[in-house]
Amino acid sequence: MKKTTLFLALGLLASSHQVLAHGDSPSYAWDQFEALVEVSKKMGPRLAGTEQEREMANWLTGQWTTLGYQVKTLPFEYKTKKGMIKSSNLVVDIKGTSEQILVVGAHYDSKGAKSGSLGILDNGSGMVALLALANDLKGKKLPFSVRLIAFGAEENGLKGSKAYVNRDDKPLNNVVAMINLDTIIGGDKLYVHSPLTKPYTCDYVKEANFESSPQLREGLRAVSTRLYGDSAHLLHDAFKGYPQGETGDWSDHAPFACNGIKTAYLEATNFAIKGKNGNDGYSQIADKEYWTCFDEKNIGACDRKKEKQWGEIWHTKFDHPDYLLPKLAPRLKSQLNQNVKVLASFVLEADKWIK
Ligand SMILES: [Zn+2]
Repeated sequence: MKKTTLFLALGLLASSHQVLAHGDSPSYAWDQFEALVEVSKKMGPRLAGTEQEREMANWLTGQWTTLGYQVKTLPFEYKTKKGMIKSSNLVVDIKGTSEQILVVGAHYDSKGAKSGSLGILDNGSGMVALLALANDLKGKKLPFSVRLIAFGAEENGLKGSKAYVNRDDKPLNNVVAMINLDTIIGGDKLYVHSPLTKPYTCDYVKEANFESSPQLREGLRAVSTRLYGDSAHLLHDAFKGYPQGETGDWSDHAPFACNGIKTAYLEATNFAIKGKNGNDGYSQIADKEYWTCFDEKNIGACDRKKEKQWGEIWHTKFDHPDYLLPKLAPRLKSQLNQNVKVLASFVLEADKWIK
């Protein structure tokens, strides 16, 4: 390499570090998302316990390793009607100034292969946020240590997060809070939930000590509001069985809440749509392309009897780059950047919110 070229290259390197040093790396998160799309197109869906799920674990491990982190692989297995299924959780620890640990977790398996889902949003989006957080938090002074966990086999009944909390090596020692990321982009709006105040059924943990934790949710919301104003993360309105801002036990936050850990859950969807079962957040998107016919005025199906698609992305053919990228790429990018920015900012001041 000629000397001038070398200087030019070093200059470019220095200026890209400058950008990262200012705490924002929007392109890194999106670059990882695009990389994940390419990998997923080749790999196909990654159902719990399959070779593809293992390949995705390897890909994630590789990306974290490239950033300079050590990745711990924690294998687990569980029984199903089809026999024993093997999967793994992946753990990255980022040391903070305190021994206390804030967990951020996201599952990496996918569901809906028969319908054509590639799991790009559910939960490729959460995985990519874990990578982007690792990138953003590198070298930062953190009030708590941060533990990033990629869970296997969530779609088979939260098997990875259940296996994690039930380990014998005191996996929750020093853990003060857990933030779950599940399908954090794609839906019309960004939400943050806390667990239902009515305790979950926790018969899979040894000693259930359920914690509903609106203060963690409110901390995340305050940071999002400070940074993004009107487009900040929202609380969903109350719907049948669920008070405003509270969610059920259907994702990886639940086993932590059942062990007395404060939890919050980030999600992108649209609770204002009158979907198949009313306003419940299952219909994620009002865009006509994801409905047979969408009635703007009544915010729901033109014909409830004929509607087949219901604006649902997760576990459907729509969770695929061919349906998502041509239409939604700018939205996906800005939502991803917002989630990562809010999470990274929250982590840097987490001692203000978690007491
Ligand atoms: Zn999911």
